[in-house]
Amino acid sequence: MNLIMFGPPGAGKGTQAKFIENKHGLKQLSTGDMLRAEVAAVTDLGLRLKSIMDSGALVSDDIIIELIENRIQKSDCQNGVIFDGFPRTLAQAEALDKMLAKQGKKIDHVIVLEVDEAALLKRIETRASESGETRADDNAETLKKRLEVYNAQTAPVLPHYKEQNNLRRIDGMQPIDTVTRQIESALSKQAAA
Ligand code: ADP
Repeated sequence: MNLIMFGPPGAGKGTQAKFIENKHGLKQLSTGDMLRAEVAAVTDLGLRLKSIMDSGALVSDDIIIELIENRIQKSDCQNGVIFDGFPRTLAQAEALDKMLAKQGKKIDHVIVLEVDEAALLKRIETRASESGETRADDNAETLKKRLEVYNAQTAPVLPHYKEQNNLRRIDGMQPIDTVTRQIESALSKQAAA
């Protein structure tokens, strides 16, 4: 089973992906985490990525697609993947379809976590203050920019999936375990062939 956790920054995609990963033996792939690992390695690429990510803009499709294409071939992805933070553009979505098709696979479920933006801002501020280690892109100004980028470039990806995959919208402002239960119920529905 392959699924996409879709939703604006701070909607709880990563938190929910962890639950599903454990329960279903899938592999969570967060492109944000993969990019941060590259940044931490202080390579030339990492330095370029850092300035893009700190600005709230998207990293280029080529880099992201190559990252994912290499990663999903590893053995820990063979049982299925939870894509978290990817695809973020239509080009990424189309590339993902192609690479999965090559392996005889597809996206079986798309979970959309919906939130209201004012509440989101509050949630991100709380996350930053509680974690102690504040991510450079976790400030309110960058969040605003990332929301703009989400609405302009990522939200338009959704219609691509509606047609061909189980797509379920869930209110991400509900308690975490309620959201988890609703995701479980969505995943129990068989995807159309
Ligand atoms: P959040 O979890 O808050 O939505 P992420 O950790 O997913 O944020 O991503 C952090 C940053 O990494 C993004 O703002 C963007 O610059 C970059 N990034 C992550 N995933 C992608 C992607 N699929 N395409 C382009 N850029 C990405």
